[in-house]
Amino acid sequence: MTPRRDFLLLVLSSPSGAGKTTLTRKLLEQCPELCFSVSHTTRAPRANEVDGRDYHFVDRARFRRLVDQGAFLEWAEVHGNLYGTSIAEIERAQGTPGCAGLIFDIDYQGARQIRAQIEDVVGVFVLPPSMQELERRLRGRASETEEALQKRFTAAQLEIEHYALFDYLVVNDDVERAFDELRSITLAERARRRRRSALAESLLRTGRLS
Ligand code: ADP
Ligand code: 5GP
Repeated sequence: MTPRRDFLLLVLSSPSGAGKTTLTRKLLEQCPELCFSVSHTTRAPRANEVDGRDYHFVDRARFRRLVDQGAFLEWAEVHGNLYGTSIAEIERAQGTPGCAGLIFDIDYQGARQIRAQIEDVVGVFVLPPSMQELERRLRGRASETEEALQKRFTAAQLEIEHYALFDYLVVNDDVERAFDELRSITLAERARRRRRSALAESLLRTGRLS
């Protein structure tokens, strides 16, 4: 899979509860030219989640079939469920008029797999200000059973150990401040020379004064 040179691939990861869904939603609201990569998962939908918008919810048998068909760019088991990014998702986004980039909300295993295949990926890791605050947010969200919550909290340590896979570390202490950082990173990455060079070259080809 070779994405277009001007297309931004932004991987956003964090330990569960650090706030990446909150930050991703804000980024999508404020940057309408960015699209969200809808993953496949075997996890059950949460109360407010919509199939096809938040995830493609599938059972394990269907997920395994997609793996066998080579449909995924990356996939991993996270907190006991399977999650994966389909190649079709990137192709669809690149073919959508007005879509200049794709945001992936995936874990460090997925980030590592994408990095191994595509050179030009921007990785952002969201950190909580403290482990106490992470636990408070996970409990405050009240979306998991106590057992699932403990699993996620224990896994947070492992996820933070992989921070070096990412280019940027955003500390989500105050959500507005963290969002400003994320937005600045996104804007700067979109303005990189390699993403704008095609425009510069076309100006040179057509830009003679008459
Ligand atoms: P993740 O997607 O990383 O699992 P969420 O975005 O679902 O995390 O956030 C977890 C909980 O913490 C949510 O209830 C969210 O409203 C809350 N939250 C997110 N960012 C902040 C923040 N900066 N300060 C306080 N609470 C926050
Ligand atoms: P949640 O169940 O809270 O939506 O997500 C749990 C974890 O799975 C999060 O860390 C999220 O980033 C990760 N995740 C979601 N989709 C994918 C995916 O397609 N691939 C990988 N590797 N991880 C994913």
